[in-house]
Amino acid sequence: MSTQEYFDQGELVAVLTTQPLDRTLDYKAPEGGCFLGAYVEVPLGPRKVLGVVWGPGQGGFDLAKARSVIRVLEVAPMREEMRVFLGKVADYTLTPMPAMLRLATRAPGLGDPPSMRKIYRMGGAEPDRMTDARTRVLEVLRDYGGLAFTLKELAEQAGVTPSVVKGLVKQNAVREEDSPRDLPYPHLNPDLPGKALTEDQALAVARLQDGQRTGDYGTTLLKGVTGSGKTEVYLEAVAEALRNGRQALVLLPEIALTAEFLTRVEARFGARPAEWHSGATMTERRRVWRMVGQGDAHLIVGARSALFLPFRNLGLVVVDEEHDTSYKQEDGVHYSARDMAVLRASICGARVILASATPSLESWANAEAGKYERLDLTSRFGDAVLPEMKPIDMRAEQMQPGTWISPSLRQAVQQRIEKKEQSLLFINRRGYAPVTLCRACGEQIACDHCDARMVEHRFLKRLMCHQCGETKPMPEVCPSCQVEGKLAPVGPGIERLAEEAEATFPEAKIAMLSSDLFGSARALKAKIEEIAQGDADIIIGTQLVAKGHNFPKLTLVGVIDADLSLHGADLRAAERTFQLMRQVAGRAGRADKPGQALLQTFQPEHPVIRAILSGDEEGFWKAEAAGRQAAAVPPYGRMAGIVLSGPEVGPVFDIGNTMARNDAPLRDVGAQVFGPAPAPIARIRGRHRVRLLVKAPKGAPIQDAIARWIAPLCLKGDIRLTVDIDPQSFY
Ligand code: ADP
Ligand code: ZN
Repeated sequence: MSTQEYFDQGELVAVLTTQPLDRTLDYKAPEGGCFLGAYVEVPLGPRKVLGVVWGPGQGGFDLAKARSVIRVLEVAPMREEMRVFLGKVADYTLTPMPAMLRLATRAPGLGDPPSMRKIYRMGGAEPDRMTDARTRVLEVLRDYGGLAFTLKELAEQAGVTPSVVKGLVKQNAVREEDSPRDLPYPHLNPDLPGKALTEDQALAVARLQDGQRTGDYGTTLLKGVTGSGKTEVYLEAVAEALRNGRQALVLLPEIALTAEFLTRVEARFGARPAEWHSGATMTERRRVWRMVGQGDAHLIVGARSALFLPFRNLGLVVVDEEHDTSYKQEDGVHYSARDMAVLRASICGARVILASATPSLESWANAEAGKYERLDLTSRFGDAVLPEMKPIDMRAEQMQPGTWISPSLRQAVQQRIEKKEQSLLFINRRGYAPVTLCRACGEQIACDHCDARMVEHRFLKRLMCHQCGETKPMPEVCPSCQVEGKLAPVGPGIERLAEEAEATFPEAKIAMLSSDLFGSARALKAKIEEIAQGDADIIIGTQLVAKGHNFPKLTLVGVIDADLSLHGADLRAAERTFQLMRQVAGRAGRADKPGQALLQTFQPEHPVIRAILSGDEEGFWKAEAAGRQAAAVPPYGRMAGIVLSGPEVGPVFDIGNTMARNDAPLRDVGAQVFGPAPAPIARIRGRHRVRLLVKAPKGAPIQDAIARWIAPLCLKGDIRLTVDIDPQSFY
């Protein structure tokens, strides 16, 4: 990396742009020169594109032909640590740098001069004549002593039309000013009193704060059952970071969780933090991006891509629910936000806290190996105790066809209804029924574009493909045999379970919680709030409810199909089931009433189910770790998934075969390649998909090897290749 920090006007600079080019481009520094890392606008053909000054120009061409940087954007230059971070993520994930830069600049209009708006204050001059309306405007301004209003606010406060205010402006009785929209975020006060901590919590806080004060990199796995106060504890680490003048970032896996978190931050620090997620407006994203870069946003709560904000002085990253699979981005740049958080922190000397009730095996193993510090919160706060967990052996239950609530579970729910407590029925399947079958010919209705069955959604009155989102109306006749009236739903989804619950418990109030039933994050949040207040006897939920919401009146969790995710071919199937079941069970009995979790299963003797029931976590992890070690799979070996896709299956397979034959670069580092094979979902959106899997020993430099392996390929036509390092899912 260059050490030259500043370039005079006319000097050649190399600019990394957001355009898909495999190199930087040379431009002449503009009038006034520019700094290394400056965000600039440069001409590319007829267009203007965004770029960053990456170093001195390469030269080697006719300098008279060099074009100039159009302008330097008025934002803080990209810091060196950010350039290093982007470069390392690019190397790790085999992503071209322009795509990294796009990820780091996802705030539209980030370089435009701050947009202005008109604000109004007291002017001083006396208006020529007073009216009631005018008096009211001046009174409002006087009452709020010096405060500025927007036109709309002022007119509303005074109960006048905007033209009254404008009239006063003409007479200088009211002053009109321009004010930037992108205001700094309110100051957070770390010294407001926090909650009185339990002994366990206080110990963990002390360790985290000591770490925070060192100013050096370090990662801590904060493990504690749901409700043990992990959030309270890491907020105290945030407080310490703020006291030390450093920025903190809290990553949450789900936007629906931010609302509760924002309230808690406000209670602790007296103001709300900046938010970064897909639900934020363009203006808000721009404001966050700029303020983070200027150091005028001190705490950011966000989704995984917040990791790529241009922090000025990042001191702490919290990854809450660190085991959550949504931290892995699986389109565009394939990265794990948890792993990249650790990378970023190690570059800029920040601390990382990975919080979870059920950590990933990766993090557990890193703690075992001493790479991460581990802190455990062992008991729930207050009198709340972990729920009792019991299996319901479905082989012994008398089930009516087309029903999923066993008599034993029904009885348990009934008891809760009588005691006015809440029950949660958990099923991890959206829609009404996963399969629509023709009883005449056996046809299962499939998506026209994907190798996937269509899921019936009664709520939408349509069939939907969960791969591509395509929907179609439920046909009257079977598309295959043309027989009418023989199409039948098979298997349960959340909507069908709700129907069964309504029929079984006619007097109960039932609420459904599934991400697709709400138009917006706000609507979902409102619903969760209502339920938490007690406005439901039975909650029917998908995975969404497993994630950290507080339902104080909930004392029973019934898991409809505990075996469901055990059948996956995924190497993490056991781990996922274990985490999900424990998380769901952890929803019960959070306040003062003890909870119970009942797991409907056909295989109560399965080791994973047994581990869940006995609560022997360390035992489960040790066994799981031993199994993966023996198979040399992550975290004890390395993997990469390659997916080739294209409109015709033949050419896609040809490339896959060529790759498999020419595997010398992989063999050089001790890696093996498996495949090509049709991907588990062999067609998505009309594109045929073929997978190869690379397996390598733990320390092997697989990125280099893969880069050398794929470099000679020429992908013709519409064939695409994606590389997923450390794949989390294998579809
Ligand atoms: P976790 O993040 O581990 O699920 P939380 O931090 O959300 O746990 O704590 C669970 C509940 O207990 C929250 O309502 C929280 O405010 C409360 N709580 C935890 N610790 C304390 C404490 N020391 N004093 C008061 N309330 C606490
Ligand atoms: Zn589809």
